[in-house]
Amino acid sequence: MSKPIILSGMQPTGSLHIGNYLGALKNWVELQNSGQYELFFFVADLHSLTIDMKPETRRKNIRLLAAEYIASGLDPKKVTLFVQSHIPEHTELTWIFSTVTPVTELFRMIQFKDKSEHNAKNINAGLLTYPALQAADVLLYHGALVPVGQDQVQHLEMTRDCARWFNNRYGHYFPETKPLLTQFPKIMSLLEPTKKMSKSAGESHYIGMADEPKIIAAKLKKAVTATAGGGQAPGAANLLALLKQFGDKKMYTEFTAAEKNGSIRYGDLKAELASAIGNYFAGFRARRAELLANPKKLDAILEDGAERARGVAKKTMADVRKLVGLR
Ligand code: AMP
Repeated sequence: MSKPIILSGMQPTGSLHIGNYLGALKNWVELQNSGQYELFFFVADLHSLTIDMKPETRRKNIRLLAAEYIASGLDPKKVTLFVQSHIPEHTELTWIFSTVTPVTELFRMIQFKDKSEHNAKNINAGLLTYPALQAADVLLYHGALVPVGQDQVQHLEMTRDCARWFNNRYGHYFPETKPLLTQFPKIMSLLEPTKKMSKSAGESHYIGMADEPKIIAAKLKKAVTATAGGGQAPGAANLLALLKQFGDKKMYTEFTAAEKNGSIRYGDLKAELASAIGNYFAGFRARRAELLANPKKLDAILEDGAERARGVAKKTMADVRKLVGLR
């Protein structure tokens, strides 16, 4: 029996942070190593066009993200790793999905509302039709499952709806994709620990996967741990959560106990955590540097992935064109 197909991707917006690692990449590598699935991972460069980014920055970020995927442990021999725009069928299928998608459904999307609020100067049509591109990303490859956290379930419902709207009009063809619900730790900002760690708030708010140990130590030194009202401060909880992920068990148990009985010294916790994170990503930094120093090799890997993805995508689009009456 063939394995269930899983598909996921991220936008090329610059180097990844440890929240991206714990919230996505780590799980992707585990799915790969489980041997239970056929996996497709892509660099969502077409999605990134909804953001105002300089073309040369985008070009650089695409390679960078691919290098970081591989350096994190994705093996291009075990998974199909490709750049979305290398497969023009993504845009073609998006158009077809846009013609079966009621516009009222698109206006309902939380992410559209969020992004419009934060990008008042750039509410482009792509932000609105984004779910049709997401549906195309998944359904071109007949994706059965998409690994998501609870907050992303709404978008996946839209992928399932696109399949239904298409199937109702043109005959049953696409599968109904299901979320592969996974518990992801939510990593918080170092300086504003009530907010999610993200790059948009600035360098000192996050720890990059590629940050050198010195930088990690400096950023952690400034991390907020105090609380005005007593009780466990969100900043301290965040640092302990990170130690649980990256440090050794004994240290985590000791610091957790010390935090409970009030004897914790945050300087010690930060030093321990800095060293744990620095060590954890040492291999990643080396593999990343090697890949970035050899762009030809990286491009060859991506071309090989595109070749495999293209095989599937071309077949799907040929079927779809026939079904809708274009050929
Ligand atoms: P983004 O670029 O924000 O869309 O993130 C790419 C992936 O990383 C998504 O799967 C997010 O859920 C995950 N992610 C981003 N920031 C965090 C965070 N602070 N904690 C956990 N996961 C995150």
